Amino acid sequence: MKTDIKSMLPEEIEAALSEIGEPKFRAKQIFTWLSRGVRAFEEMSDLSKKLRTALDERFLITSPQPIRKQVSELDGTIKYLWELADGNAVETVVMSYKHGNTVCISTQVGCRQGCAFCASTIGGLVRNLEPSEMLDEVLFSQIDSGHEISNIVLMGIGEPLDNYDNVIQFIKLVNHPLGMNIGMRHISLSTCGLTEKIDKLAELNLQLTLSISLHAPDDETRSKLMPANKGRGVAELISACKRYFERTGRRISFEYAMIDGVNDTPEQAKKLAGLAKQCGAHINLIPLNHVEERAYGPTTAENLKKFISILEDNGANSTVRRKLGGDVEASCGQLRRKATKEGTSKI
Ligand code: SAH
Repeated sequence: MKTDIKSMLPEEIEAALSEIGEPKFRAKQIFTWLSRGVRAFEEMSDLSKKLRTALDERFLITSPQPIRKQVSELDGTIKYLWELADGNAVETVVMSYKHGNTVCISTQVGCRQGCAFCASTIGGLVRNLEPSEMLDEVLFSQIDSGHEISNIVLMGIGEPLDNYDNVIQFIKLVNHPLGMNIGMRHISLSTCGLTEKIDKLAELNLQLTLSISLHAPDDETRSKLMPANKGRGVAELISACKRYFERTGRRISFEYAMIDGVNDTPEQAKKLAGLAKQCGAHINLIPLNHVEERAYGPTTAENLKKFISILEDNGANSTVRRKLGGDVEASCGQLRRKATKEGTSKI
């Protein structure tokens, strides 16, 4: 079995090179080539033929193939479906804002968290993504779209903290100055609230933005919507958020998808404001996106307005997330693994 070299940091490549008697000072050069998206050692033209052959015998370079690319006619949002080496597929979304281009990446093939309103979890978890595969989502989206990526959100398919080690390694890779060099403050990680992993992440004291998919301020509603709440509970989640904020100094975001008749009452708005104030969080409201297989619908415009004014009256900051890529099913919670052979055309 060949080793996945694109999941390795320069110092790890260095160690591997010295183990096989190759000059270790080449590691940085190799890492830089990989971060530019070369698909074979052959392309590393400033390495000797001998070294290229030795590398090829021991290491593999992941490089996904685009199976489908959809461009939104409404706002130019691009959704990619990439085929991985083992035939699995993942989705990546590129969004353009005034302040730059953001890529939304998947962290797992499927998801096992089972949120009742989300399409990504239908069919469960297939497998974790490797660090290299997450890096490829950013890298090849940038190369194919021609849009330089300035921000990354881990808000596609999967629960990032359920694939903790690979996600942390990916963040180190994409943040590396010799690599894509995306600043920590330009990376957002979103979680359904795995409190024990939030504490573990806090210990690393990374300067990334942590988003909590809260979606309900009370245990009864939250446990109905999000199985991850059972056995943990809202109070424990808020305590973990406070600890995270105290340790890192980074303000947390709450994601709150507004669902008609479920989590959009005035009482829930008051409670939500209270929780946000407790841990200095900013609230991102998202009118629920319609998912065919799910029974839930978005809140009404009137309820949304009322909800926002209650948040304001109770001293909490909130913004409403702009919907992008609505016509290509690229909006929050609409991504899901589709069979690669459903008659979609190659780019
Ligand atoms: N598992 C992580 C990462 C997924 S991010 C998490 O739960 O945070 C995707 C975001 O979209 C999450 O906030 C998720 O709760 C939200 N989401 C899922 N389905 C949605 C839908 N139908 N409408 C709006 N948001 C949705």
